[in-house]
Amino acid sequence: MTLNLGKKPLKPAPRPESAEPAQTARELQARLGREKVLLELAQRRNYSYDGIAMGVTPTLVVLPTSTAEVVEVVRFANRVGLPLVARGAASGLSGGAVPVQESIVVSFTRMTGLQIDPQARLATVQPGVVTLQISEQARPYGLCYPPDPASFRTSTIGGNLAENAGGPMCFKKGVTGDYVVELEFVDYSGAVHRLRREAYDLVGLLVGSEGTLGLITEARLRLEPIPRYTRTLMAIFSEVGQAAEAVSEAIAAGAVPSKLEFMDNGCINAVEDYLKLGLPRQAAAILLVDTDGDDPVVVEEELAWVAEACQKHGASVRIAQNSAESEALWKARRSISPAIGAIKPKRLNEDIAVPRSSLPEVVRAVEALGRQYGLRVVQFGHIGDGNLHPNVLYDPKADAEEKVWELLHEIARVALRHGGVLSGEHGIGLMKRDFMREAVDPTTLEALRRVKVAFDPEHRLNPGKVLPEANSQAH
Ligand SMILES: Cc1cc2nc3c(=O)[nH]c(=O)nc-3n(C[C@H](O)[C@H](O)[C@H](O)COP(=O)(O)OP(=O)(O)OC[C@H]3O[C@@H](n4cnc5c(N)ncnc54)[C@H](O)[C@@H]3O)c2cc1C
Repeated sequence: MTLNLGKKPLKPAPRPESAEPAQTARELQARLGREKVLLELAQRRNYSYDGIAMGVTPTLVVLPTSTAEVVEVVRFANRVGLPLVARGAASGLSGGAVPVQESIVVSFTRMTGLQIDPQARLATVQPGVVTLQISEQARPYGLCYPPDPASFRTSTIGGNLAENAGGPMCFKKGVTGDYVVELEFVDYSGAVHRLRREAYDLVGLLVGSEGTLGLITEARLRLEPIPRYTRTLMAIFSEVGQAAEAVSEAIAAGAVPSKLEFMDNGCINAVEDYLKLGLPRQAAAILLVDTDGDDPVVVEEELAWVAEACQKHGASVRIAQNSAESEALWKARRSISPAIGAIKPKRLNEDIAVPRSSLPEVVRAVEALGRQYGLRVVQFGHIGDGNLHPNVLYDPKADAEEKVWELLHEIARVALRHGGVLSGEHGIGLMKRDFMREAVDPTTLEALRRVKVAFDPEHRLNPGKVLPEANSQAH
């Protein structure tokens, strides 16, 4: 299996006008302003990749600043017969924002409006707002926006909504979609829709639709009060499966950790090389756990339940004594990505989610697969809701890419065999599109196709993503 970059979309979009895009694009430039429509090749090339894949240089890049301008771009795209690819910060890890054919990339990075309504505990955001900014702007009112992908310093809320992003807090506090009260999007024809959670939860449908059903232009998001107390611990294990077992045990005992993350030995050592924080290099795995709330007794009690469950499964436990120690531990978690990037020239990131009860077996099975394929695999993830990110690290000069892809698919098969899903939070995008045949039964796949056609009858929105081509072969 390869990335299929450059393959034709499900149905190529028709091009009703013969006018050269570059020519008509100058008209668009004149209407929106020169700085909002990029025509130069060197500029456009910067919009051909995301965090994992490289695609086709877009024909045109547009940086709208309002919903009205997005409407104008969609109408323009329809006139010239070009599809549209929405793009936020391009931190995505499934190739979602990568163009696979001639297209217009709509970059939302200049739509950065953000208003906090402390009385209603709501934030009104445009899609280009960087995720972390929502909590930063809400903090003076004692409020926060809990969904916290590890990329929250760069990712945009538009990308988070389109991927239904999760984060270390998702076990207790939920994922992006759980916070959406209202959503505005522009459809394939240029019509603007404002959705609330009403009949046929269309908000729920747009969230996680990976730019294939509409262009999200605004959202109203629920904010929560900042908890008054937070405690952090690190549990150190000598076997990876024990860490997974301890998570199930702690949760069964009634603990609801506000953050819960797993790192295996490869991640621990990579981060230690990178940051020198004093992490336990010999450990097979660590768990990082926060408990939070407004009652210090309850917060301590929950931390004690977690510590006990970890100790029962052979761990030694260190409790952070102050906020600086706690912050250092979470910095370790956030630094995994750059840290493991330094081990081998390339890596591919899996994103499986399995029932928590299967975690010990899945974690061990992934380790065994890495050994079987002779490839370096490191694992980490938001283990509280069964989300794991096995990363295959490799050197394209020494390791065949085919073998790397085969291993990734074997890992995905492990998840499916254990009742899991193909993607926990990074989306299907381009990376897992063709694997959907194996993961989803034909009737459900057909239902998904009908949803796509209902929203985007001419396949103009992010073509070539999520759904496999109707006539393509399963592997
Ligand atoms: C170091 C690192 C850590 C990460 N950690 C996490 C994590 O903990 N949890 C997690 O969930 N993800 C994580 N990710 C993945 C990534 O950051 C998320 O998927 C994020 O939501 C993508 O946001 P973005 O703005 O970069 O979107 P992009 O990558 O630009 O786009 C992602 C998808 O959203 C679509 N899209 C973007 N904007 C819009 C819009 N306005 N309307 C419609 N569609 C749109 C695009 O077409 C594409 O399909 C991580 C990535 C990195 C590099």
